[in-house]
Order: sequence, then C-alpha cells, then structure tokens
Amino acid sequence: MTSTQARHTRRAVLQAAVDAGARCAGTDPDKFFRADGETYIEWQARRAEAIRFCSGCPMRAACEELALRDGDGDAQADEMVRAGLTGQELAAVRAAQAERLTAVVDADRDTEGRQLDALVTEFYAEACKNPDSSRNGGARNSVLRQSAQTERMRSLAVQARTIRIARRARSGWGVAA
Ligand code: SF4
Repeated sequence: MTSTQARHTRRAVLQAAVDAGARCAGTDPDKFFRADGETYIEWQARRAEAIRFCSGCPMRAACEELALRDGDGDAQADEMVRAGLTGQELAAVRAAQAERLTAVVDADRDTEGRQLDALVTEFYAEACKNPDSSRNGGARNSVLRQSAQTERMRSLAVQARTIRIARRARSGWGVAA
C-alpha cells in the first residue's frame, strides 16, 4: 500500500465511523450552517443549539479529525458548526494543532496506522453482520453466533484501542479518533 493509499484508507475509516454512528444522520444538515440573510441573533441561537447537539454525539472526535483534515472552517467567517465547533474555532484548532495534525496524518503511513485501519474496518464489518441470517438455524445457534460476534468485536476494539493509545502518546494528539 502506498502512503497516499494509506491516507485515503484512514480517511475512509473515519468517514465510515461517522456514517455508522453520527447523531446527525438523517437529520437536516442545514442546522449546521448559517442561512443566506440570516441575522446574527438568529444564527447565534441556532449555532448554540447545533453545538449542544454535537456535544451528545458519540462520533464527535472522528468528526473533528475529518473536519480538520477537510480544511473546514474559516477564521474570518462565522457560518458553520461541525463536530461541536464553530468554523472559526475549527480554523483556530487547525492552526494550533498543525504540527500534531501533520503527525497524525503521517502516522497513517506507518504499520500501526495500517493495522488500525484494518482493525476498524473489520470491526464495522463484523458489526454489520446479522448473526440470525446463517443457514444453521435454531435459537441456540443464534445465541452462540451472537456471543461469538460480540467477543470478536470486543477483541478488535481492544486491539484498536491499544494502537490508538500508542499513536496518541507519540503525536500528543489527545482528541481525535
Ligand atoms: S459531531 Fe455533530 S456534525 Fe459531527 S457527526 Fe456528530 S452530530 Fe454530526
């Protein structure tokens, strides 16, 4: 795998995580953006609500890393919210964390990064399996398959967490997924 492919894979994993668990999935995306002609007072109230909404999202860290990688946010424009941060806050974090963000992106190229991508991809693939869909029917078999699926997901999550902790310690990046 080339370094470019590795970066793209990492990004795809982050996007898959957000797609799978985003609190905003299926909701109106306009709530995160200032409308044309919207007054500051109106936007201020909606912006606060959008920030509150994101604060309850389990994928906020992955969403933030994606936003930083995507270059979202503008230091001069107060017109959006993503990952619980305003566009101006995202721009500020990107500037403040530029070195760490570069380190995280660079880490995508190393072996651990590829291992993490594979583990997370396998975790979500496992999570999407339906243990009841096997031809080997029967309630007992179904329970056993569910148990095996749960154990496999737990094992994958532990392996991924171990790698993430090591990567964060190296890069000093304590927030992103
Ligand atoms: S943090 Fe906010 S914008 Fe990001 S996925 Fe969650 S709800 Fe959506």
